[in-house]
Amino acid sequence: MNDNKIHDFMITLKSTYPDAKCSLDFTTPFELLIAVILSAQCTDERVNKTTPNIFSIYSSPKDFANIDLSELEDLIHPCGFYRNKAKNIKACSRILVEKYNSEVPNTMEDLISLPGVGRKTANVVLLNAFGIAEGIAIDTHAKRISNRLGFSSESDPEKVERDLLKIFPKEYLKDINHLFVYHGRNFCTARNPKCAECPLQEFCKSFKEKTF
Ligand code: SF4
Repeated sequence: MNDNKIHDFMITLKSTYPDAKCSLDFTTPFELLIAVILSAQCTDERVNKTTPNIFSIYSSPKDFANIDLSELEDLIHPCGFYRNKAKNIKACSRILVEKYNSEVPNTMEDLISLPGVGRKTANVVLLNAFGIAEGIAIDTHAKRISNRLGFSSESDPEKVERDLLKIFPKEYLKDINHLFVYHGRNFCTARNPKCAECPLQEFCKSFKEKTF
């Protein structure tokens, strides 16, 4: 796609989803970091139902560094993979206390050095907590849609992100993940995508090749 086509693509998406934004609830960068860790293999809706109760009791990195592991496992149980997530949240919180003065760092390098934090989580935190659009968070929606549209044939999220970063100018980076998530929920669902009504038909490789 040339630059004009990319521009048209983004205009179409933005006019379809003018209110697209991060759907995780949070009030601080640390709450967002915890919410994104919990959102792995879980819906944002479920995370949003789970975190208010937790954050009303425990809210700081120090609280989570000192929490009893089995209590944390119980609290986050509804989000799945609770043992691994609890271990990572506790270890991550301890590092924030010891190395970052209980603050969430705002660089990709520092964020991905934390337990349980990969590029996807780091991209979400950088963008939504600090307004820094360094890369593109590749979650299940962004990966599926990038593959179907023909933007990337990769399955590894970091490779998909690399492909998208070659296609999209920097000015669009802050919007892509949110727009793809909304499109993945509304039209380009994992099963039975609504291609017949999809506003992205003219941009979509799968549609043109009648893969669906
Ligand atoms: S045309 Fe179908 S496959 Fe292509 S983006 Fe739309 S819903 Fe997804």
